[in-house]
Amino acid sequence: MKPAVFLDRDGTLIEERGYIDRLDLLSVFPWTADALRLLKRRGFAIVVITNQAAIGRGVIDEPFLREVHRALDARLAPAGAAPDAYYYCPHHPDAAIERFRMICRCRKPGPGMIEQAAADLGLDRRRSVMVGDRWLDVVCGHAAGTRALLVRTGHGAHEAEAPPPGAQADAILNNLMEAAGWILRNSSTP
Ligand SMILES: [Mg+2]
Ligand SMILES: [Zn+2]
Repeated sequence: MKPAVFLDRDGTLIEERGYIDRLDLLSVFPWTADALRLLKRRGFAIVVITNQAAIGRGVIDEPFLREVHRALDARLAPAGAAPDAYYYCPHHPDAAIERFRMICRCRKPGPGMIEQAAADLGLDRRRSVMVGDRWLDVVCGHAAGTRALLVRTGHGAHEAEAPPPGAQADAILNNLMEAAGWILRNSSTP
């Protein structure tokens, strides 16, 4: 089984811009491609794990979300840094669209998306790491049995100052490139 780096999307791979409902809102951090390429080269699968309540709320639909992810792939692929897979949770307890209105296991901080990805792709959760800019990402990773890092991009600068009770990151780093360095230093060769 392969280890993975599970990555939050908004505020971690790309600028936090609220709901991404137009392609021109997609802004990849300048270090993202290099960070992902380093991790892939060391044998980590790269899996994006993103809450997309915008779908349940009717702000965007699933075809548009796939378009956003294709656009992200197109920016990363030339650098050999395209993610291996994307998992998203379209649900929300207050979703406007009834089929998405539920309390689910996949909405972060729930571990459902990581569990599903690990089952689908044959990933070793114990040797994997979740990286995100919010405590719910850290809690999600730990709930799924991975290590978990908080980055100070996106919401991370504020979040780092106010950890909720019981939440503790394995480390807090300035950005995804620093997180990649931490992962490479703190992982045995896959
Ligand atoms: Mg985020
Ligand atoms: Zn869900």
